[in-house]
Amino acid sequence: MRKLMADYFYEMDRAVKEGSPKVAWCTSVGPAELLLSLGFVVHYPENHGALLGATRTANEYIPVANAIGYSPDICSYLTSDIGSFIKKDTPLIRAYEGIEGVPKPDVLVYNTNQCRDVQDWFSWYSRELGVPALGISTYRNIGEVSDFHLQSITEQVKGLIPRLEEISGNTFDLDKFKEIMMLSKKCTGLWKKVLETNTAVPAPMSFFDATIHMGPAVVLRGTPKAVEYYQGLLQELEERVAQKEGAVEGEKYRLYWEGMPIWGKLRDLAEFFIQFQTAVIASTYCNSWIFDSFDPDDPFMSLARAYTEIFIVRDENYKEKYIEEMVRKYKIDGILFHDAKTCPNNSNNRYGMPERLEKKLNIPAITINGDLNDLRCYSEEQAKTNIEAFIEQLETSP
Ligand code: SF4
Repeated sequence: MRKLMADYFYEMDRAVKEGSPKVAWCTSVGPAELLLSLGFVVHYPENHGALLGATRTANEYIPVANAIGYSPDICSYLTSDIGSFIKKDTPLIRAYEGIEGVPKPDVLVYNTNQCRDVQDWFSWYSRELGVPALGISTYRNIGEVSDFHLQSITEQVKGLIPRLEEISGNTFDLDKFKEIMMLSKKCTGLWKKVLETNTAVPAPMSFFDATIHMGPAVVLRGTPKAVEYYQGLLQELEERVAQKEGAVEGEKYRLYWEGMPIWGKLRDLAEFFIQFQTAVIASTYCNSWIFDSFDPDDPFMSLARAYTEIFIVRDENYKEKYIEEMVRKYKIDGILFHDAKTCPNNSNNRYGMPERLEKKLNIPAITINGDLNDLRCYSEEQAKTNIEAFIEQLETSP
């Protein structure tokens, strides 16, 4: 993993220094496959945001963005990433010798399927760097994905091509696009199988491990490297399942994590749960990079479908059914909702869902307050006290 990520960042760094290939920034569930097919190297600012969170440097940068008017209440990926840019500092400099910062973009491409913040985020860079920001505006809170949704998004994706050809200096090649879609499909299929190894009892991998292992699915999908990575990981996990090696020794309880990770507390929480022989083994978050609908023979429409039918785009009914299915599939004993202060889009506890699911599934749910990056929003003591009480409740549950 370390080598894979280092190669990825050095490749982008080379591209910036040599001026070729061109660099595109893309939102995490944006049309990356199209960008790769046009020869761009692709940087994902959310991945950088997660890095700022995981290295616990985000809180040095968030106030810098707050000072230029970006509220502490909006996405803390956005505020920490912009703050880091203004401060001309990033953990990438310390992790990779010779890298002087995040790769400068030639174009910024967003998809509002996840939230409006990504558009505002990329618009800031567009103004600051004088680089075009192109976007896809997606429907939100939808139940069924209908043809008219897909037609609109397909047209928007196609509409990006002339500008992207101009910027990349390459002509769109349908066969190349299909090839990238095929690689992405393989990657996403393997990632799904990797996550599904956790249907075994005991589960071989924790949610906290999975948030790290999903790196290649986020930043390297559409490349053979990601496929190879997940082939290796899957094999390893299948061996662990065969040997009944669990991520948590003596696994007693199995939890579902709904919402964003708390990046700065991954290790701490992983160790905390181990003490209670409680395994957090499935999550909406890690599942968000499963794109079942990719079809290389119908690349535009299937890309539109894959990036529209994801959980975050859907209405409350769909989300509830989805979690119900996960609870059954992974034999879950309880659900933990993370109410992330700065990401209402990924906080699904706010409209009564935990209470409805508790009743329907007859298992307990808990909400902990925190944030993806802004650790000022997370009270460790309170969260741990509540989790401990929740686990006690599991002991007495039927
Ligand atoms: S979905 Fe949430 S965490 Fe992701 S970019 Fe939007 S506001 Fe930020």
